[in-house]
Amino acid sequence: MGEPKAVLYSCPFVPPEWIAAHGLRPTRVLPRSPEAIDGIGDTLVSLSRMGICSYARAFAREVCKGSDGDAAIFTTTCDQMRRMSELVGRFCDKPIFAMHVPTSCETVAAFRFYREELHRLGRFLIEIGGTEPTPDTLIAAMESYEAMRTARSSSRFGRAGAIPIALVGGPLVSGLLDLFDLVERAGGYVALDATETGERTLPKPFDRRRLKEDPVAELVDAYFGTIPDAFRRPNTLLYQWLKRESATRGIRGIILLHYVWCDTWRAEVGRLKEWAPVPVLVIDTDEGECDHGRIFSRVQAFLEVLAQ
Ligand code: SF4
Repeated sequence: MGEPKAVLYSCPFVPPEWIAAHGLRPTRVLPRSPEAIDGIGDTLVSLSRMGICSYARAFAREVCKGSDGDAAIFTTTCDQMRRMSELVGRFCDKPIFAMHVPTSCETVAAFRFYREELHRLGRFLIEIGGTEPTPDTLIAAMESYEAMRTARSSSRFGRAGAIPIALVGGPLVSGLLDLFDLVERAGGYVALDATETGERTLPKPFDRRRLKEDPVAELVDAYFGTIPDAFRRPNTLLYQWLKRESATRGIRGIILLHYVWCDTWRAEVGRLKEWAPVPVLVIDTDEGECDHGRIFSRVQAFLEVLAQ
């Protein structure tokens, strides 16, 4: 038997446990910036460049050529990803699955819909070589992934006197990870990573009793029922989470990072500024690169104000 097939995904609403329970290898992609993969997917890029967020383009390019994978899952949490899944399906020879994630998160129907989408995803995984999981296989996968998350979780500490900042926004491409260093060089530190790539999108710990009784229901609850995000309606979960986590870490300023073409997070700018009990700095980026000069001077000025 060879290596299990790798299934690429980027969205936190795709439970890796579900893929692993089907005997396949879940591979969450941290995309490079969209232009970093030379000469590949040019048709895709030229077709989609106008008005498509650089993260969605970066993920699409990784799926087409950059990352080693046998299939990919897109989710429809925003129009950009929905359009990308259609384009990639036309230009890429890998099997592509578009998983629908309801924006509504308070109705029984929405929970049922998400559960049905998991089962539809399961049928796709079986079609590409996976196997139907038994309840015990799923429980074992859930326990194993939860143990890995627990082992990885760690608190963030800054140098003495550094100002604790929350970094809020959508997913990061790898070229933006330098932002954490820029904040430190400017005298702060990211005490709360509230980006989609960070701790904000971790599922809640599984309830042991429910895990044994109905593992799929517990999976739905831990992911769909718990993860806060800007696309959700209502998105009060996001602000409840930010309030709780900011208070425990003594957050003194918020940096909201969004891609130029991201309607979801751009729409959050006004609401976040209105809600935030601390100053907010908004940074936009187009190509998904950390433009060190421009961003550093803005972060530095922001931290100087906070330090007064
Ligand atoms: S960053 Fe915004 S536009 Fe881009 S994929 Fe995420 S939600 Fe969609």
